[in-house]
Amino acid sequence: MASKPFPVANGLTSFWRTEPSSLDNHRSTQDLPDHSDIVVIGAGYAGASTTYHILDQCDSSPKPSIVILEARQACSGATGRNGGHMKPDLYSSIGTLAARFGVEAAAEVAAFEAKHVSAIKSLIDQEEISCDLEISKAIDAQLDESHNAKLLAGYNELIAGGSEATKGAEYVSGREAETFSGVKGAKGAFTYQTGRLWPYKLITELLRRAIAKGVNLQTHTPVLNVSKVRDADGHWTVETPRGSIKTKYVVFATNAYTSSIAPEYHGKIIPSRGICSRIVVPSPPKQPLQASYLIRFNSWQYDYLIPRPDGSIIVGGARPTFFHDLESWYGNTDDSKMIEAASHYFDNYMQRHFHGWESTGAYTDRVWTGIMGYTTDSLPHVGQVPQKQGQFILAGFNGHGMPQVFLSAKGIANMIVRGVEFEDTGVPRLFKTTQERLDSKENRILDAPYAAGKPRPRL
Ligand SMILES: Cc1cc2nc3c(=O)[nH]c(=O)nc-3n(C[C@H](O)[C@H](O)[C@H](O)COP(=O)(O)OP(=O)(O)OC[C@H]3O[C@@H](n4cnc5c(N)ncnc54)[C@H](O)[C@@H]3O)c2cc1C
Repeated sequence: MASKPFPVANGLTSFWRTEPSSLDNHRSTQDLPDHSDIVVIGAGYAGASTTYHILDQCDSSPKPSIVILEARQACSGATGRNGGHMKPDLYSSIGTLAARFGVEAAAEVAAFEAKHVSAIKSLIDQEEISCDLEISKAIDAQLDESHNAKLLAGYNELIAGGSEATKGAEYVSGREAETFSGVKGAKGAFTYQTGRLWPYKLITELLRRAIAKGVNLQTHTPVLNVSKVRDADGHWTVETPRGSIKTKYVVFATNAYTSSIAPEYHGKIIPSRGICSRIVVPSPPKQPLQASYLIRFNSWQYDYLIPRPDGSIIVGGARPTFFHDLESWYGNTDDSKMIEAASHYFDNYMQRHFHGWESTGAYTDRVWTGIMGYTTDSLPHVGQVPQKQGQFILAGFNGHGMPQVFLSAKGIANMIVRGVEFEDTGVPRLFKTTQERLDSKENRILDAPYAAGKPRPRL
């Protein structure tokens, strides 16, 4: 694993990035300013959302100066190459969190994630952003009896323990699950409200609105170093190949790549390469997909699917083809290359797994890789970087950031603009970045199930 995992050049073109925004290579000014009130590092979902909330919450006039520094093109990281699925977890990983930290703390995460669906809808309505948002049903279909039973038991425990958000999910049992979901061999299913969208369009349009309010976006400007201590005036120095910027506030919105410039997170946020695809459907079936899907084959193998308004389907996952080969994904930042073993996994996918799709001619149109930020305790890091006053982080979203980032960013903005304590931001307590978490030797990514050749599920 690279000790400094910077983004690589020439990332593969995801479906979402086939229609580049006019801001893709934007630089608001020819040169970098020497000083900025706030420097946000990373122009993905986290960086754009934090900037949005800072501007939204700032009633002072003039607003603080903000520079966004992005190593590559705007929204070229995980956000520009993900599954487009904004799906709150109401019972699955939440059940694991309940077992580790108690139902109350886990329920807080479920409620926080569920809130994202309406928060993002309001944002898109208010800002009039066209990004193919659809709010519909999610269907999670289990193909393995014992895994299904385990999930059901966890779901029941969460409801009995008072997790209100979990009540938003309904369970469909036994034979009904296969008819209900259309998934061949389904043994049980959960269904609940979810969102799906074109993430790149949302984020580049948020950036456009920020620029219109005076924010300075600098693409192709990697941050190489952030000073270890503040100078006598209380400023951090952010260094790039194009010059340095002095600032009071630094926001690490750098997800998988965070440890390259925030050494505290080395070995805590691990770049993890994933794969996604687009399937095109020449002769649609009688019943095209209406819902977003998760197909769980067993306790660690699963794929996720969203139907698009153009009739195509985005599908991600493919773990069994490459997860045994650690170097192909763990600590791997190379999204300029395919994971060869997985490149044909999605061929005939719909025909294999869905009733009524056998004659659709559905074929794989495009496959790409992207880099997720897995954390060793499987929780995001949000809040002030321990012992670094004025440095903030929101990163390590474990391949599941769509229902976690936007309101985490609101919390970070609250801390910067209003000096609010983390505990009063509404961000789940389990997300708080702490020295204790940084000191822990735990690594849940590589624990026993992986050693036995069966990596644990992460999404
Ligand atoms: C294949 C794949 C499928 C996924 N599917 C889903 C899904 O369906 N649903 C879901 O919820 N989540 C999904 N995710 C995860 C989701 O995309 C992320 O959680 C989310 O986009 C994180 O947003 P971010 O802004 O934190 O990170 P990113 O979008 O990665 O943004 C970080 C940015 O920081 C920049 N950067 C890093 N280091 C530096 C530096 N030193 N200097 C300057 N800039 C820097 C990067 O270039 C990048 O643009 C998926 C991820 C992948 C890769």
